[in-house]
Amino acid sequence: MQEAVLVVGGGVAGIQASLDLANRGFRVHLVEKNPSIGGRMAQLDKTFPTLDCSMCILAPKMIECSHHPNVQLLSCSEVKDVKGSVGNFKVRVLRKPRYVDEKKCTGCGICSENCPAEAPNAFDENIGARKAIYMPFPQAVPRVAIIDKESCVECGLCEKVCPAGAVNREQEPEEVELDVGAIVVATGFDMFDPSTIPQYGYGRFKNVISAMELERLLCASGPTGGHLIRPSEGKKPRHIAFIQCVGSRDRREWVGHPYCSSICCKYAVKDAVLIKEHDPKSLVSIFYIDMRAFGRGFQEFVNRAKTEFGIEFIRSSPGEISEDPKTKDLLIFFEDPITRTVQKIRFDLVVLCPALIPSKGMPELAKTLNIELDNYGFVKLEDSVRKPLDTTVPGIFCCGYCLGPKTGDIPDSITQGSATAGRVAEVLAAKEES
Ligand SMILES: Cc1cc2nc3c(=O)[nH]c(=O)nc-3n(C[C@H](O)[C@H](O)[C@H](O)COP(=O)(O)OP(=O)(O)OC[C@H]3O[C@@H](n4cnc5c(N)ncnc54)[C@H](O)[C@@H]3O)c2cc1C
Repeated sequence: MQEAVLVVGGGVAGIQASLDLANRGFRVHLVEKNPSIGGRMAQLDKTFPTLDCSMCILAPKMIECSHHPNVQLLSCSEVKDVKGSVGNFKVRVLRKPRYVDEKKCTGCGICSENCPAEAPNAFDENIGARKAIYMPFPQAVPRVAIIDKESCVECGLCEKVCPAGAVNREQEPEEVELDVGAIVVATGFDMFDPSTIPQYGYGRFKNVISAMELERLLCASGPTGGHLIRPSEGKKPRHIAFIQCVGSRDRREWVGHPYCSSICCKYAVKDAVLIKEHDPKSLVSIFYIDMRAFGRGFQEFVNRAKTEFGIEFIRSSPGEISEDPKTKDLLIFFEDPITRTVQKIRFDLVVLCPALIPSKGMPELAKTLNIELDNYGFVKLEDSVRKPLDTTVPGIFCCGYCLGPKTGDIPDSITQGSATAGRVAEVLAAKEES
Protein backbone atom coordinates (compact mmCIF):
# COMPACT_ATOMS: atom_id res chain seq x y z
CA MET A 1 0.00 0.00 0.00
CA GLN A 2 1.45 3.34 -1.09
CA GLU A 3 1.08 6.41 1.12
CA ALA A 4 1.60 8.61 -1.91
CA VAL A 5 -0.97 10.26 -4.20
CA LEU A 6 -0.76 11.58 -7.76
CA VAL A 7 -2.70 14.80 -8.48
CA VAL A 8 -3.11 15.61 -12.18
CA GLY A 9 -3.71 19.33 -12.83
CA GLY A 10 -2.47 22.27 -10.77
CA GLY A 11 -5.47 24.61 -10.94
CA VAL A 12 -7.11 25.78 -7.74
CA ALA A 13 -8.90 22.41 -7.29
CA GLY A 14 -5.69 20.36 -7.70
CA ILE A 15 -3.72 22.75 -5.48
CA GLN A 16 -6.31 22.48 -2.71
CA ALA A 17 -6.43 18.67 -2.96
CA SER A 18 -2.61 18.54 -2.86
CA LEU A 19 -2.38 20.82 0.17
CA ASP A 20 -5.01 18.92 2.14
CA LEU A 21 -3.43 15.55 1.29
CA ALA A 22 0.06 16.83 2.14
CA ASN A 23 -1.20 18.21 5.45
CA ARG A 24 -2.65 14.77 6.24
CA GLY A 25 0.84 13.29 5.79
CA PHE A 26 0.53 11.89 2.27
CA ARG A 27 3.40 12.35 -0.18
CA VAL A 28 1.85 14.22 -3.15
CA HIS A 29 3.15 14.30 -6.73
CA LEU A 30 1.41 17.23 -8.44
CA VAL A 31 1.66 16.93 -12.23
CA GLU A 32 0.94 20.10 -14.23
CA LYS A 33 1.26 20.28 -18.00
CA ASN A 34 1.97 24.04 -18.05
CA PRO A 35 5.19 25.69 -16.81
CA SER A 36 3.33 27.07 -13.73
CA ILE A 37 0.54 25.90 -11.47
CA GLY A 38 -2.46 28.21 -10.93
CA GLY A 39 -4.80 27.19 -13.77
CA ARG A 40 -7.46 29.60 -15.00
CA MET A 41 -7.83 31.39 -11.67
CA ALA A 42 -4.35 32.86 -12.19
CA GLN A 43 -5.63 34.64 -15.32
CA LEU A 44 -8.61 36.28 -13.60
CA ASP A 45 -8.62 39.89 -12.45
CA LYS A 46 -11.15 39.86 -9.59
CA THR A 47 -13.52 37.12 -8.39
CA PHE A 48 -17.29 37.33 -7.97
CA PRO A 49 -19.29 38.25 -5.92
CA THR A 50 -16.90 39.95 -3.49
CA LEU A 51 -14.56 41.35 -6.20
CA ASP A 52 -11.50 40.16 -4.28
CA CYS A 53 -8.24 40.12 -6.23
CA SER A 54 -7.94 36.62 -7.70
CA MET A 55 -4.15 36.36 -7.53
CA CYS A 56 -4.12 37.65 -3.90
CA ILE A 57 -6.15 34.57 -2.90
CA LEU A 58 -4.38 32.12 -5.19
CA ALA A 59 -0.69 33.10 -4.90
CA PRO A 60 -0.30 32.14 -1.19
CA LYS A 61 -1.82 28.71 -1.96
CA MET A 62 0.52 28.23 -4.92
CA ILE A 63 3.56 29.10 -2.81
CA GLU A 64 2.43 26.97 0.14
CA CYS A 65 1.95 24.05 -2.22
CA SER A 66 5.38 24.34 -3.83
CA HIS A 67 7.15 24.80 -0.47
CA HIS A 68 5.30 21.98 1.30
CA PRO A 69 7.80 19.26 2.29
CA ASN A 70 5.29 16.57 1.25
CA VAL A 71 4.62 17.96 -2.25
CA GLN A 72 6.71 17.23 -5.32
CA LEU A 73 5.71 19.66 -8.06
CA LEU A 74 6.22 18.32 -11.58
CA SER A 75 5.54 21.18 -14.01
CA CYS A 76 5.76 20.88 -17.84
CA SER A 77 4.76 17.25 -17.22
CA GLU A 78 2.17 14.78 -18.44
CA VAL A 79 1.03 11.34 -17.33
CA LYS A 80 2.00 8.81 -20.01
CA ASP A 81 1.13 5.46 -18.50
CA VAL A 82 -0.70 4.02 -15.49
CA LYS A 83 -0.74 0.40 -14.33
CA GLY A 84 -2.02 -1.34 -11.20
CA SER A 85 -5.01 -0.72 -8.97
CA VAL A 86 -6.16 1.13 -5.86
CA GLY A 87 -3.41 1.12 -3.24
CA ASN A 88 -0.72 0.31 -5.81
CA PHE A 89 -0.62 2.31 -9.02
CA LYS A 90 2.58 2.54 -11.07
CA VAL A 91 2.67 5.82 -13.01
CA ARG A 92 5.02 6.99 -15.74
CA VAL A 93 5.29 10.78 -16.11
CA LEU A 94 7.02 12.62 -18.96
CA ARG A 95 8.80 15.85 -17.95
CA LYS A 96 9.31 18.09 -20.95
CA PRO A 97 12.49 20.17 -21.05
CA ARG A 98 12.36 23.82 -19.95
CA TYR A 99 15.95 24.32 -21.17
CA VAL A 100 16.48 26.08 -17.83
CA ASP A 101 17.73 24.28 -14.72
CA GLU A 102 14.97 24.48 -12.07
CA LYS A 103 17.50 24.14 -9.27
CA LYS A 104 19.69 27.02 -10.49
CA CYS A 105 17.20 29.60 -11.90
CA THR A 106 16.42 32.39 -9.42
CA GLY A 107 13.68 33.97 -11.56
CA CYS A 108 15.60 37.26 -11.82
CA GLY A 109 14.35 37.90 -15.39
CA ILE A 110 17.71 39.08 -16.81
CA CYS A 111 17.44 36.42 -19.56
CA SER A 112 14.06 37.77 -20.77
CA GLU A 113 15.29 41.39 -20.65
CA ASN A 114 18.12 40.48 -23.04
CA CYS A 115 16.24 38.05 -25.30
CA PRO A 116 15.73 39.48 -28.82
CA ALA A 117 12.94 37.07 -29.92
CA GLU A 118 9.22 37.46 -29.24
CA ALA A 119 6.07 35.36 -29.50
CA PRO A 120 2.39 35.96 -28.58
CA ASN A 121 1.78 35.80 -24.83
CA ALA A 122 -0.56 32.82 -24.28
CA PHE A 123 -1.14 33.69 -20.61
CA ASP A 124 -2.50 37.07 -21.79
CA GLU A 125 -4.68 35.25 -24.35
CA ASN A 126 -2.20 36.30 -27.07
CA ILE A 127 -2.74 40.02 -26.48
CA GLY A 128 0.79 41.41 -26.53
CA ALA A 129 4.04 39.51 -26.67
CA ARG A 130 6.52 37.75 -24.40
CA LYS A 131 10.12 36.82 -25.02
CA ALA A 132 11.31 33.41 -26.29
CA ILE A 133 12.81 32.85 -22.80
CA TYR A 134 10.19 33.97 -20.33
CA MET A 135 8.45 33.64 -16.99
CA PRO A 136 4.83 32.55 -17.69
CA PHE A 137 3.50 35.37 -15.44
CA PRO A 138 4.92 37.46 -12.59
CA GLN A 139 3.65 35.20 -9.78
CA ALA A 140 4.47 31.90 -11.57
CA VAL A 141 5.23 28.85 -9.42
CA PRO A 142 7.82 27.42 -9.78
CA ARG A 143 9.54 30.77 -10.34
CA VAL A 144 11.66 29.40 -13.16
CA ALA A 145 12.07 30.69 -16.72
CA ILE A 146 11.35 28.52 -19.76
CA ILE A 147 12.59 28.64 -23.36
CA ASP A 148 10.05 28.29 -26.13
CA LYS A 149 12.20 26.58 -28.76
CA GLU A 150 9.81 27.46 -31.60
CA SER A 151 10.37 31.21 -31.24
CA CYS A 152 14.01 30.98 -30.01
CA VAL A 153 16.55 32.32 -32.54
CA GLU A 154 19.40 30.34 -30.90
CA CYS A 155 21.52 33.47 -30.36
CA GLY A 156 22.79 32.13 -27.00
CA LEU A 157 22.44 35.53 -25.31
CA CYS A 158 20.35 34.15 -22.42
CA GLU A 159 23.08 31.66 -21.62
CA LYS A 160 25.71 34.42 -21.62
CA VAL A 161 23.79 36.83 -19.37
CA CYS A 162 22.30 34.36 -16.85
CA PRO A 163 24.15 35.07 -13.56
CA ALA A 164 23.16 31.64 -12.16
CA GLY A 165 24.33 29.62 -15.17
CA ALA A 166 20.84 28.09 -15.31
CA VAL A 167 20.24 28.02 -19.09
CA ASN A 168 20.75 24.55 -20.53
CA ARG A 169 19.65 24.40 -24.15
CA GLU A 170 20.66 20.74 -24.37
CA GLN A 171 18.12 19.60 -21.74
CA GLU A 172 16.30 16.38 -22.76
CA PRO A 173 12.81 15.06 -21.87
CA GLU A 174 12.90 12.96 -18.71
CA GLU A 175 10.73 10.08 -17.52
CA VAL A 176 9.74 9.79 -13.86
CA GLU A 177 8.29 6.62 -12.33
CA LEU A 178 5.93 7.02 -9.40
CA ASP A 179 4.32 4.52 -7.01
CA VAL A 180 1.05 5.89 -5.67
CA GLY A 181 -1.96 4.56 -3.79
CA ALA A 182 -4.52 6.87 -5.41
CA ILE A 183 -4.90 9.37 -8.25
CA VAL A 184 -6.83 12.67 -8.30
CA VAL A 185 -7.85 14.15 -11.65
CA ALA A 186 -8.17 17.96 -11.54
CA THR A 187 -7.68 18.96 -15.16
CA GLY A 188 -10.24 21.79 -15.26
CA PHE A 189 -11.60 23.19 -18.51
CA ASP A 190 -10.81 24.88 -21.79
CA MET A 191 -12.84 27.46 -23.65
CA PHE A 192 -14.98 26.94 -26.74
CA ASP A 193 -13.55 28.75 -29.76
CA PRO A 194 -16.13 31.50 -30.52
CA SER A 195 -15.01 31.73 -34.17
CA THR A 196 -16.94 28.45 -34.61
CA ILE A 197 -20.04 30.72 -34.71
CA PRO A 198 -19.07 32.99 -37.65
CA GLN A 199 -22.10 35.30 -37.21
CA TYR A 200 -20.41 36.86 -34.16
CA GLY A 201 -17.26 37.83 -36.08
CA TYR A 202 -14.73 36.65 -33.48
CA GLY A 203 -11.33 36.52 -35.18
CA ARG A 204 -12.63 38.76 -38.02
CA PHE A 205 -13.67 41.88 -36.08
CA LYS A 206 -10.91 43.19 -33.80
CA ASN A 207 -13.35 44.65 -31.24
CA VAL A 208 -15.12 41.34 -30.62
CA ILE A 209 -13.18 39.70 -27.80
CA SER A 210 -13.63 36.73 -25.46
CA ALA A 211 -14.35 36.97 -21.73
CA MET A 212 -10.88 35.65 -20.84
CA GLU A 213 -9.29 38.32 -23.05
CA LEU A 214 -11.34 40.88 -21.13
CA GLU A 215 -10.08 39.44 -17.80
CA ARG A 216 -6.51 40.05 -18.97
CA LEU A 217 -7.32 43.58 -20.22
CA LEU A 218 -8.90 44.50 -16.87
CA CYS A 219 -6.04 43.04 -14.82
CA ALA A 220 -3.38 45.44 -13.48
CA SER A 221 -0.67 42.88 -14.32
CA GLY A 222 -2.16 42.30 -17.80
CA PRO A 223 -0.91 43.52 -21.20
CA THR A 224 -2.38 47.05 -20.84
CA GLY A 225 -1.67 47.52 -17.13
CA GLY A 226 -5.40 47.21 -16.40
CA HIS A 227 -6.59 49.83 -18.92
CA LEU A 228 -9.56 48.65 -20.95
CA ILE A 229 -8.94 49.51 -24.59
CA ARG A 230 -10.44 48.69 -27.98
CA PRO A 231 -8.01 46.35 -29.76
CA SER A 232 -8.63 48.15 -33.10
CA GLU A 233 -6.94 51.45 -32.17
CA GLY A 234 -6.29 51.41 -28.41
CA LYS A 235 -9.04 53.90 -27.47
CA LYS A 236 -11.20 53.54 -24.37
CA PRO A 237 -14.54 51.83 -25.24
CA ARG A 238 -17.62 53.61 -23.90
CA HIS A 239 -20.47 51.30 -24.97
CA ILE A 240 -19.77 47.66 -24.19
CA ALA A 241 -21.91 44.55 -24.68
CA PHE A 242 -21.62 41.05 -23.24
CA ILE A 243 -23.20 38.12 -25.09
CA GLN A 244 -23.97 35.08 -22.95
CA CYS A 245 -24.19 31.42 -23.94
CA VAL A 246 -21.79 31.57 -26.92
CA GLY A 247 -21.69 27.86 -27.65
CA SER A 248 -23.41 26.89 -24.38
CA ARG A 249 -27.06 25.83 -24.34
CA ASP A 250 -26.71 25.45 -28.07
CA ARG A 251 -28.21 22.33 -29.63
CA ARG A 252 -26.88 22.95 -33.12
CA GLU A 253 -24.84 19.88 -34.03
CA TRP A 254 -21.82 21.81 -35.30
CA VAL A 255 -21.62 23.70 -31.98
CA GLY A 256 -22.31 20.71 -29.79
CA HIS A 257 -22.55 22.11 -26.24
CA PRO A 258 -26.19 21.90 -25.14
CA TYR A 259 -25.39 22.34 -21.43
CA CYS A 260 -25.25 25.55 -19.36
CA SER A 261 -21.61 26.31 -18.43
CA SER A 262 -22.92 27.53 -15.06
CA ILE A 263 -20.56 30.43 -14.31
CA CYS A 264 -20.84 32.82 -17.27
CA CYS A 265 -23.85 34.79 -15.95
CA LYS A 266 -21.94 35.40 -12.73
CA TYR A 267 -18.63 36.42 -14.26
CA ALA A 268 -20.31 38.60 -16.93
CA VAL A 269 -22.07 40.58 -14.18
CA LYS A 270 -18.76 40.78 -12.29
CA ASP A 271 -16.87 42.05 -15.34
CA ALA A 272 -19.67 44.53 -16.18
CA VAL A 273 -19.39 45.96 -12.64
CA LEU A 274 -15.59 46.11 -12.92
CA ILE A 275 -15.88 48.05 -16.20
CA LYS A 276 -18.22 50.53 -14.49
CA GLU A 277 -15.76 50.84 -11.60
CA HIS A 278 -12.95 51.56 -14.10
CA ASP A 279 -15.08 54.15 -15.92
CA PRO A 280 -18.46 55.13 -14.41
CA LYS A 281 -19.40 56.90 -17.67
CA SER A 282 -19.34 53.68 -19.69
CA LEU A 283 -22.62 52.03 -20.73
CA VAL A 284 -22.71 48.26 -20.31
CA SER A 285 -25.37 45.87 -21.63
CA ILE A 286 -25.63 42.12 -21.06
CA PHE A 287 -27.51 40.00 -23.62
CA TYR A 288 -28.72 36.83 -21.89
CA ILE A 289 -31.16 33.91 -22.18
CA ASP A 290 -31.86 33.42 -18.41
CA MET A 291 -29.92 34.98 -15.55
CA ARG A 292 -28.57 31.93 -13.69
CA ALA A 293 -26.97 33.62 -10.70
CA PHE A 294 -27.47 30.92 -8.06
CA GLY A 295 -25.47 30.71 -4.85
CA ARG A 296 -25.06 32.82 -1.76
CA GLY A 297 -24.96 36.55 -2.47
CA PHE A 298 -25.25 36.22 -6.26
CA GLN A 299 -28.82 37.43 -6.84
CA GLU A 300 -28.06 40.40 -4.60
CA PHE A 301 -24.96 41.02 -6.73
CA VAL A 302 -27.08 41.02 -9.92
CA ASN A 303 -29.58 43.40 -8.28
CA ARG A 304 -26.75 45.78 -7.29
CA ALA A 305 -25.39 45.64 -10.85
CA LYS A 306 -28.78 46.90 -12.08
CA THR A 307 -29.62 49.48 -9.45
CA GLU A 308 -26.24 50.75 -8.24
CA PHE A 309 -24.19 50.45 -11.44
CA GLY A 310 -26.94 50.95 -14.05
CA ILE A 311 -26.03 47.86 -16.08
CA GLU A 312 -28.62 47.07 -18.74
CA PHE A 313 -29.88 43.48 -19.04
CA ILE A 314 -31.39 42.58 -22.45
CA ARG A 315 -33.15 39.23 -22.56
CA SER A 316 -32.25 38.11 -26.05
CA SER A 317 -29.70 35.94 -27.80
CA PRO A 318 -28.29 38.06 -30.66
CA GLY A 319 -28.39 36.63 -34.18
CA GLU A 320 -25.51 38.52 -35.71
CA ILE A 321 -22.83 41.17 -35.27
CA SER A 322 -21.67 43.39 -38.12
CA GLU A 323 -18.75 45.80 -38.22
CA ASP A 324 -18.56 49.33 -39.59
CA PRO A 325 -15.39 49.00 -41.71
CA LYS A 326 -14.43 52.67 -41.12
CA THR A 327 -14.96 53.09 -37.35
CA LYS A 328 -14.65 49.39 -36.43
CA ASP A 329 -17.77 49.89 -34.29
CA LEU A 330 -20.09 46.91 -33.99
CA LEU A 331 -23.81 46.53 -34.60
CA ILE A 332 -25.57 43.80 -32.65
CA PHE A 333 -28.76 42.50 -34.27
CA PHE A 334 -31.24 40.86 -31.89
CA GLU A 335 -34.90 40.14 -31.45
CA ASP A 336 -36.65 42.38 -28.94
CA PRO A 337 -38.64 39.84 -26.89
CA ILE A 338 -41.40 42.37 -26.10
CA THR A 339 -42.07 43.91 -29.52
CA ARG A 340 -40.90 40.77 -31.36
CA THR A 341 -39.07 42.92 -33.86
CA VAL A 342 -35.44 42.80 -34.94
CA GLN A 343 -33.46 45.63 -33.37
CA LYS A 344 -29.88 46.78 -33.66
CA ILE A 345 -27.62 48.63 -31.20
CA ARG A 346 -24.15 50.07 -31.83
CA PHE A 347 -21.31 49.10 -29.46
CA ASP A 348 -17.60 49.98 -29.23
CA LEU A 349 -16.62 46.58 -27.84
CA VAL A 350 -18.39 43.21 -27.65
CA VAL A 351 -17.37 40.52 -25.13
CA LEU A 352 -18.38 36.93 -25.92
CA CYS A 353 -18.86 34.48 -23.03
CA PRO A 354 -17.95 31.09 -24.56
CA ALA A 355 -18.97 27.64 -23.34
CA LEU A 356 -16.52 25.94 -21.00
CA ILE A 357 -15.48 22.62 -22.46
CA PRO A 358 -13.34 19.68 -21.24
CA SER A 359 -9.63 20.33 -21.06
CA LYS A 360 -7.70 19.58 -24.27
CA GLY A 361 -6.13 16.15 -24.05
CA MET A 362 -8.88 14.77 -21.79
CA PRO A 363 -9.71 11.80 -24.10
CA GLU A 364 -6.02 10.71 -24.12
CA LEU A 365 -5.72 11.10 -20.34
CA ALA A 366 -8.95 9.15 -19.82
CA LYS A 367 -7.56 6.35 -21.98
CA THR A 368 -4.31 6.31 -20.01
CA LEU A 369 -6.17 6.19 -16.68
CA ASN A 370 -8.83 3.86 -18.07
CA ILE A 371 -11.58 6.13 -16.68
CA GLU A 372 -14.84 6.87 -18.50
CA LEU A 373 -16.00 10.27 -19.72
CA ASP A 374 -19.60 11.50 -19.99
CA ASN A 375 -21.42 12.46 -23.22
CA TYR A 376 -19.77 15.88 -23.24
CA GLY A 377 -16.24 14.65 -22.46
CA PHE A 378 -16.14 15.56 -18.76
CA VAL A 379 -15.13 12.95 -16.17
CA LYS A 380 -17.91 10.41 -15.56
CA LEU A 381 -18.72 9.60 -11.95
CA GLU A 382 -19.31 6.09 -10.71
CA ASP A 383 -22.38 7.25 -8.78
CA SER A 384 -23.05 10.99 -8.62
CA VAL A 385 -25.21 10.66 -5.49
CA ARG A 386 -23.40 8.11 -3.32
CA LYS A 387 -19.84 8.71 -4.56
CA PRO A 388 -19.77 12.20 -6.08
CA LEU A 389 -15.95 12.34 -6.39
CA ASP A 390 -15.19 8.77 -7.53
CA THR A 391 -14.45 8.09 -11.20
CA THR A 392 -15.40 4.75 -12.73
CA VAL A 393 -12.03 3.28 -11.62
CA PRO A 394 -11.56 2.51 -7.89
CA GLY A 395 -8.75 4.63 -6.43
CA ILE A 396 -9.07 7.38 -9.09
CA PHE A 397 -10.96 10.49 -7.94
CA CYS A 398 -11.74 13.89 -9.42
CA CYS A 399 -12.43 17.48 -8.41
CA GLY A 400 -13.02 20.91 -9.94
CA TYR A 401 -14.34 21.78 -13.39
CA CYS A 402 -13.15 18.50 -14.99
CA LEU A 403 -16.35 17.10 -13.46
CA GLY A 404 -18.32 19.40 -15.74
CA PRO A 405 -20.41 22.48 -15.14
CA LYS A 406 -22.46 21.02 -12.29
CA THR A 407 -20.32 23.11 -9.97
CA GLY A 408 -17.95 25.47 -11.68
CA ASP A 409 -16.85 28.36 -9.54
CA ILE A 410 -13.77 28.80 -7.37
CA PRO A 411 -15.40 28.17 -3.96
CA ASP A 412 -16.94 24.93 -5.32
CA SER A 413 -13.60 23.85 -6.81
CA ILE A 414 -11.83 24.45 -3.47
CA THR A 415 -14.53 22.59 -1.54
CA GLN A 416 -14.22 19.66 -3.93
CA GLY A 417 -10.42 19.67 -3.69
CA SER A 418 -10.67 19.34 0.09
CA ALA A 419 -13.47 16.77 -0.14
CA THR A 420 -11.44 14.65 -2.58
CA ALA A 421 -8.48 14.67 -0.18
CA GLY A 422 -10.81 13.37 2.55
CA ARG A 423 -12.18 10.68 0.23
CA VAL A 424 -8.65 9.55 -0.77
CA ALA A 425 -7.67 9.28 2.91
CA GLU A 426 -10.82 7.28 3.67
CA VAL A 427 -10.35 4.83 0.78
CA LEU A 428 -6.63 4.30 1.43
CA ALA A 429 -7.24 3.78 5.17
CA ALA A 430 -9.90 1.14 4.38
CA LYS A 431 -7.50 -0.55 1.96
CA GLU A 432 -4.76 -0.56 4.61
CA GLU A 433 -7.08 -2.29 7.10
CA SER A 434 -8.31 -4.91 4.61
C1 LIG B 1 -13.79 34.29 -17.93
C2 LIG B 1 -13.93 33.54 -16.63
C3 LIG B 1 -14.11 34.25 -15.45
C4 LIG B 1 -14.27 33.57 -14.24
N1 LIG B 1 -14.48 34.29 -13.09
C5 LIG B 1 -14.69 33.64 -11.93
C6 LIG B 1 -14.95 34.37 -10.72
O1 LIG B 1 -14.96 35.61 -10.71
N2 LIG B 1 -15.19 33.65 -9.57
C7 LIG B 1 -15.21 32.28 -9.55
O2 LIG B 1 -15.47 31.71 -8.49
N3 LIG B 1 -14.94 31.56 -10.68
C8 LIG B 1 -14.68 32.21 -11.86
N4 LIG B 1 -14.39 31.49 -12.99
C9 LIG B 1 -14.33 30.00 -12.87
C10 LIG B 1 -12.93 29.54 -12.41
O3 LIG B 1 -12.00 29.90 -13.40
C11 LIG B 1 -12.98 28.03 -12.17
O4 LIG B 1 -13.89 27.77 -11.12
C12 LIG B 1 -11.64 27.45 -11.72
O5 LIG B 1 -10.61 27.86 -12.58
C13 LIG B 1 -11.74 25.91 -11.74
O6 LIG B 1 -10.52 25.40 -11.26
P1 LIG B 1 -9.96 23.97 -11.70
O7 LIG B 1 -8.73 23.73 -10.89
O8 LIG B 1 -11.03 22.96 -11.68
O9 LIG B 1 -9.57 24.13 -13.25
P2 LIG B 1 -8.47 25.01 -14.02
O10 LIG B 1 -8.37 26.37 -13.47
O11 LIG B 1 -8.84 24.87 -15.48
O12 LIG B 1 -7.10 24.24 -13.77
C14 LIG B 1 -6.83 23.00 -14.35
C15 LIG B 1 -5.33 22.78 -14.41
O13 LIG B 1 -5.05 21.47 -14.91
C16 LIG B 1 -4.01 21.53 -15.88
N5 LIG B 1 -4.17 20.40 -16.79
C17 LIG B 1 -5.16 20.20 -17.69
N6 LIG B 1 -4.99 19.02 -18.31
C18 LIG B 1 -3.85 18.46 -17.80
C19 LIG B 1 -3.16 17.24 -18.04
N7 LIG B 1 -3.59 16.35 -18.94
N8 LIG B 1 -2.04 16.99 -17.33
C20 LIG B 1 -1.56 17.90 -16.43
N9 LIG B 1 -2.20 19.07 -16.16
C21 LIG B 1 -3.33 19.34 -16.83
C22 LIG B 1 -4.22 22.89 -16.55
O14 LIG B 1 -3.05 23.33 -17.21
C23 LIG B 1 -4.61 23.75 -15.34
O15 LIG B 1 -3.48 24.28 -14.69
C24 LIG B 1 -14.23 32.14 -14.21
C25 LIG B 1 -14.03 31.44 -15.41
C26 LIG B 1 -13.89 32.12 -16.60
C27 LIG B 1 -13.71 31.34 -17.88
